[in-house]
Amino acid sequence: MQVENLTIDKIRRGLDRKDFSVVELIKSYISRAKKLNPKLNVFITENFDLALEKARQADERRQKNEILGELDGVPVAIKDAICVKNILTTAGSKILQNYYPPYSATVIEKLESAGAIIFGKTNLDAFAHGSSTENSDFGPSKNPWDLSRVPGGSSGGSAVAVSASLAPAALGSDTGGSIRLPASFCGITGFKPTYGAVSRYGLIAMASSFDQIGPMASSAQECRQIFEVISGRDQRDATSFDVKDANNTNKKFNQLANMTIGLPKEYFTPFREKSLTGLADEIDSDVKQVIKKAIAILQNQGAKIVNVSLPNSKYGLAVYYIVQPTEVASNLARYDGILFGKTREYFGQEAKRRIMLGTFTSSAGYVQKYYHTAQKVRELIKQDFDKVFEKVDMIISPVSPTPAFKFGEKVEDPLKMYLSDILTVPVNPAGLPAISAPAGFVKREGKDLPVGMQIIGAQKADYKILEVVEKYQEITDWHNIKPKVL
Ligand code: GLN
Repeated sequence: MQVENLTIDKIRRGLDRKDFSVVELIKSYISRAKKLNPKLNVFITENFDLALEKARQADERRQKNEILGELDGVPVAIKDAICVKNILTTAGSKILQNYYPPYSATVIEKLESAGAIIFGKTNLDAFAHGSSTENSDFGPSKNPWDLSRVPGGSSGGSAVAVSASLAPAALGSDTGGSIRLPASFCGITGFKPTYGAVSRYGLIAMASSFDQIGPMASSAQECRQIFEVISGRDQRDATSFDVKDANNTNKKFNQLANMTIGLPKEYFTPFREKSLTGLADEIDSDVKQVIKKAIAILQNQGAKIVNVSLPNSKYGLAVYYIVQPTEVASNLARYDGILFGKTREYFGQEAKRRIMLGTFTSSAGYVQKYYHTAQKVRELIKQDFDKVFEKVDMIISPVSPTPAFKFGEKVEDPLKMYLSDILTVPVNPAGLPAISAPAGFVKREGKDLPVGMQIIGAQKADYKILEVVEKYQEITDWHNIKPKVL
């Protein structure tokens, strides 16, 4: 059977109508993955035998009318930074090349109890440090729209899996943009929930005060279906909470006409102050055009657009590259050669850079000057957002200043690489939910490259922004357009 362009809904309907069985479905995904994985380098581990076994069990449940929910029998690819019991989990690093976790992450337990089938562990920049998958110790993943370009990172493998129809949905994690950037570069929808809305238990920690697991799929509707299953309070993650309890999720926001959308001026002509980034160039003018069209569509539906300002967002990248490495240095200290065997020689350049930086920014003589100052500015960034959300329901911006870039274009220059996250990074220090959704294409060297728009919500407005993107996707078709990879 043909699995290209299947969605969670199409799968469920097909199974309900007995057009195909779960075993047939999974076999077809396996044969597509066998063909495409060598080309795209999506999976670090293919757990296909186990997936088939689970498919048989799902078919049995169906026969007995014991379906576990709308994800029953649906394959979901998992970023390899998320622990799955007894399945190799590497975080993209050779340090963990023999690590078979003795437990599953909460999100995995939740997916499995909803009947979803774990389908492959996807490639990422080692320890989720990066924006291109070029930092993976298992080689980079390829962008299915142009194989000479990066898929974005760090959840690049998950984005490619969905974009190239190797799975209808995937999980990623987002510390500074790692769900949203690859979603944008690959033309899919990626959702970074409010910090704490999804348990981080079993996610290999990068920077714990920013890290968040979230869904990636073709559409916001599918992201919501997954989010409903994986979200919620978990005893094993003290920062987790039940987003459904939040006050602003009971209302139904099914009318774009009631929406006020903020346009932050700094996100359209960003941060050109030389002292701050030196390299920050303008947002690509084609990218800007795509976002302007998306804004016009929302306006046509009655949404009110207002200009807003987030003045401290220009410090977003600086704050992120002080607080994040500080937490990275602390988290990676566990790979000290005792618990996980011989390790240090396997740390790549990027991990070493962050450990050095973070050790410096938290050292006795400098912690005040760097880490503590950054935490104060972090609060200012958050307050900017809080103020704006008193006036608007959500904020719109591009996801990244450029479309997918070429392999090798930025990897030698870390600052250049970091700048691709300049528009996604401020969201994480503020703990906000944000979605990257396909908004159009730009042409580069004769190829169409997808461009994502970013919709940012207030804390706990997860369902609200999902609904707005669902509405947008009812009237646009960008999310249904897939690359031709075969
Ligand atoms: N690209 C950013 C970084 O390298 C974000 C990574 C992430 O969100 N995991 O830190």
